[in-house]
Amino acid sequence: MNVHSADLTQTDTKLCDDIARRGDSLLADLTQYVAIPTGWNHTPGLDEIRGLVTGRLAALGATVELTPGEPTAPDWLWRSGRADKPNTNLAPIAVCKRCAGDGPKTLIASHLDTVFDLAGDFQTLELSSDGGTGVGPGVVDMKGGLVIAIAALEALACAGVEASWTYLFNSDEEMGSYHSAAALRALAPDHVVGLCTEPALPGGELAIERGGSGQFLIETVGKSAHVGRAFTEGVSAVTALAEALVKIAAMPDPAGGRIVNVGPIEGGGATNIVPDGARAWGNVRYAAPSIGEDLENMLDALATEESALPGVRVRRSFNRPAKPLTPEVERLAGLAQSCATSLGQELPLARTGGVCDGNILQEAGLPTIDTLGVRGGGLHTHAEWIDISSLVERCQLFALLLSRIAAGALAG
Ligand SMILES: [Zn+2]
Repeated sequence: MNVHSADLTQTDTKLCDDIARRGDSLLADLTQYVAIPTGWNHTPGLDEIRGLVTGRLAALGATVELTPGEPTAPDWLWRSGRADKPNTNLAPIAVCKRCAGDGPKTLIASHLDTVFDLAGDFQTLELSSDGGTGVGPGVVDMKGGLVIAIAALEALACAGVEASWTYLFNSDEEMGSYHSAAALRALAPDHVVGLCTEPALPGGELAIERGGSGQFLIETVGKSAHVGRAFTEGVSAVTALAEALVKIAAMPDPAGGRIVNVGPIEGGGATNIVPDGARAWGNVRYAAPSIGEDLENMLDALATEESALPGVRVRRSFNRPAKPLTPEVERLAGLAQSCATSLGQELPLARTGGVCDGNILQEAGLPTIDTLGVRGGGLHTHAEWIDISSLVERCQLFALLLSRIAAGALAG
């Protein structure tokens, strides 16, 4: 579909028509990227796709730098022996930079990882019979986002639109971005805005406000004893954990922007032994930074003295700060909406409780919008699907937005 709105310059029209002609190659890229397994910190797959995307950007004249990132996430995040503990071969973070004069610099961030198992029959993109939709692992989260952003940068270069950008690719977003957060933060000050290619919200909306998210572990310590011979000498860690969990159950206030979920839990061994250890993992979501602080205090208050019996230890890692709507983000979202209008597209604004690297960038001082990827749904499930027409539409939107940012639309 070609676009000829009165709001578009000749160059814009040329850019958008060029992208419309790239529909087949966008789909070919998507098919290729989806078939590369990048779940579970799978090093060969991550290396392959990183090589492909950075190669495309290098061909545009971008410099490519691989940085090792911070060591890793805290060990207590994963249950001992739990299958979803990632391997410790941490993938590097790729940073590609293309500078075109002194114009405003945009930071683009995409993650290469998905949540999908390397085994099983969910490994490739399958199109519907009419070709209107496709199902596949990571098809919207976020292989589709990678496809449109790279094609948009190529189309901009083809149209002779000079834009300065940095594109960061990390491989641990689905595991909390512990490894790449420092690299994301370090780039923030050099740029005027951040754009992330997370999938659009279900109705195609742009997220302008996101809650924060954090992980915690409640660990209780008791004293083991044989149930029949020495029950009164024992101190049950499971009972202590249950008491702590009842207190946690009173913490959520969803209407007030405070969510606390507990699970998985584990504790005890044989039924005839008073258990001396128990653990519960949990996740919090909070609408504002102050609510996050309240939650930190509420959880910390569960902890006992180190020597107490039963003892309660609290560990927490609130790794994704809340991303409130700021005047700068409102302005950036307004610019994205005006681009959509010029293209004859709808781009409603919305809030979400989901988190992404946009939360980290914005806390580091960079106004960021983060749902510029493709439309679809079923994220993280075997029903993950994409609306194929959104490849071209979102690529046009991304290209036009970058072009207007580069032309100084946010200056002053
Ligand atoms: Zn994602």
